[in-house]
Amino acid sequence: MKIYNTMSKSKEEFIPLEEGKVKMYVCGPTVYNFIHIGNARPMIVFDTVRRYFEYRGYDVNFVSNFTDVDDKIIRKANEEGVTADEISKRYIEECKKDMEGMNIKPATKNPLATEEIGGMIDMISTLIEKGYAYEKNGTVYYRTRKFEEYGKLSHKNLDDLQSGGRALLVTGEDEKEDSLDFVLWKPKKEGEPAWQSPWGEGRPGWHIECSEMSKKYLGEQIDIHAGGEDLIFPHHENEIAQSEAANGKAFAKYWMHNGFLNIDNRKMSKSLGNFFTVREISEKYDLQVLRFFMLSAHYRSPLNFSAGLMEAAGNGLERIVTAAANLKFLMGNAQVEKITEEEASLFAQTDRFKENFEKAMDDDFNTADAIAAIFDFVKFINTNASGNSSKEYLGKLHERLAELSNVLGIIVDKKDEMLDAEIEKMIEERQAARKNRDFARADQIRADLLAKGIVLEDTREGVKWKRV
Ligand SMILES: [Zn+2]
Repeated sequence: MKIYNTMSKSKEEFIPLEEGKVKMYVCGPTVYNFIHIGNARPMIVFDTVRRYFEYRGYDVNFVSNFTDVDDKIIRKANEEGVTADEISKRYIEECKKDMEGMNIKPATKNPLATEEIGGMIDMISTLIEKGYAYEKNGTVYYRTRKFEEYGKLSHKNLDDLQSGGRALLVTGEDEKEDSLDFVLWKPKKEGEPAWQSPWGEGRPGWHIECSEMSKKYLGEQIDIHAGGEDLIFPHHENEIAQSEAANGKAFAKYWMHNGFLNIDNRKMSKSLGNFFTVREISEKYDLQVLRFFMLSAHYRSPLNFSAGLMEAAGNGLERIVTAAANLKFLMGNAQVEKITEEEASLFAQTDRFKENFEKAMDDDFNTADAIAAIFDFVKFINTNASGNSSKEYLGKLHERLAELSNVLGIIVDKKDEMLDAEIEKMIEERQAARKNRDFARADQIRADLLAKGIVLEDTREGVKWKRV
């Protein structure tokens, strides 16, 4: 299995720190609003990475934080006249709803920054003791030049950074020894949440959160640290400087970053009016379509979001879901129970789709090629499964299709979402269409119901239906 490591800028063979286990940390969102579709990309991508490791038999410890103390949260709280805690709690709940809609598995642990302040203070103290940090009037700074390997992840040169250093000077941070130094702890300002520390009341900087939470829940060394490519610098670079200086060990073995998401070929921004939350998207599309769309490109490539591409993703997803529903339908009506010899050899032919799927995923999680392998499998199903097939053979095809789709987080079997009354209503509508000789419409209704797992059977006593 090969993973592209941002640190070495090359694909490397994955060798876990501990046999059969993967320790993985993904930087989570700052919770001050509904998550936007740019936030959704790393969630979907790294959930898929996790699912593939699990498919390969690894035990994955997946930690992803919520940043619940931050300037943006405080600003929003002040706007609404409520506490920062109320804002972050509200949007963590909303974020979890969106994640469920996108079929993202709950993390092993979602630590909250505000619950880990003690550990962050300890880590900052260690950095001060080791000479990597210093305090000035209640602010603690990281002494960037002291960490000799600074810049190794983002491949930046300290002197180049220094020449642009004036821009890094922020008001209130003018007591830094060096413009490259960054904040580990900031003193309390009026109306802000604050915690006691050896340097007075205040709150931690953003970067130290992840260093501490990763250490606490996964240990000093982890296999994979991941996030969007906008986090490479300075966030991940600073995390490395903090963790490696404090722990005296290499931090993460593999650094994975997903590419940007553009909207209609432009950068997503509120000012351009092309900013979408996942919630807004869910009003127009099934979030499974969003997930399928996100996986249709390689995770490291930039991805362009447009209505046309979402439409195409919806059609592609429908082909897979329909094939699965057809298999279920045929299983429900199969006349033969046991798989025949001929079918067994047909089924053996489908090994190649599974192999191609795995080959694609082994190559740095090439989900686009993995989806192509599923489409080839769907084509095979559509030509090699029929009313004459045995139930066992159909069941094996269905199981394999569901298994591969599940690695991508795609649910092929729709849940029973329709109420009996709704089904009856659609059947009446179909009968009316047939009476009017509008067979296209009648067929469409039958197909729609089938996609929802409802099978119609025209009998002498009228139309019967069942859930499959
Ligand atoms: Zn982080």
